[in-house]
Amino acid sequence: MGKLYVVGIGPGGLDYMTIKAKKAIEESDIIVGYKTYIKFIESIIQDKEVISTGMGKEKERCVKALELSKDKIVSIISSGDAGVYGMAGLILELRKDENVEIIPGVTASLASASVVGAPLMHDNCNISLSDLMTPYNLIKDRVEYASKGDFIISLYNPKSKGRPHYLKECMDIIKKYRKGNTPVAVVKNALRDGESTEIFTLETFKDDNVDMFSTVIIGNSESYIKDGFFITPRGYLINK
Ligand code: SAH
Repeated sequence: MGKLYVVGIGPGGLDYMTIKAKKAIEESDIIVGYKTYIKFIESIIQDKEVISTGMGKEKERCVKALELSKDKIVSIISSGDAGVYGMAGLILELRKDENVEIIPGVTASLASASVVGAPLMHDNCNISLSDLMTPYNLIKDRVEYASKGDFIISLYNPKSKGRPHYLKECMDIIKKYRKGNTPVAVVKNALRDGESTEIFTLETFKDDNVDMFSTVIIGNSESYIKDGFFITPRGYLINK
């Protein structure tokens, strides 16, 4: 009997993959995934069969992985965590009676946070600005409510050529609720080759370097920068 591992490979650098994820890939006969992510783990795939497709073929990829897993050990990989804008949900929606195991990974918000300090120390949320599957009005509502609720916000899929103005428009929504000196971090390629970071405030924020390899983290009303580190206090230092 076969098995399908749904593997979150982490942000990209092999050191940031879980031991369980690495074992699942090593144990697999076949690896299925988007080309860019396959590249990150090339050295541990070695001569295994690889089925890689481009963007936009998610359903085909999942159907194929489920089918192959009937009598082979298969890993379908997502970057970060497979359950955060990854393949885990779609696999379970399409699953009939296949043997599926989900293996978690370090998602982009956590990877990016670690690079700039400790911005996610308090209640926080992820919002994807991709409107491929979510209407833009709903995205803007979520940004508005998260801002109102004082959540630290990690923006995934922050800016693409097809929707160059969304990020600026969403930052304008956030500005209605947060002070101008609220820290904003742009982390590109966190914990993998090509990593870069920029720290702004809401007032000075510029989205020139933001792309689809970036995560944008906006602090809450308490966040601040100390010695270059982006910190959101949990409250331990407040005298009660
Ligand atoms: N399943 C992935 C997210 C996929 S959505 C996860 O859990 O991380 C793709 C978006 O994730 C990108 O547009 C970017 O916003 C973010 N992302 C993924 N890897 C990243 C990295 N190493 N550094 C910064 N952002 C990253």
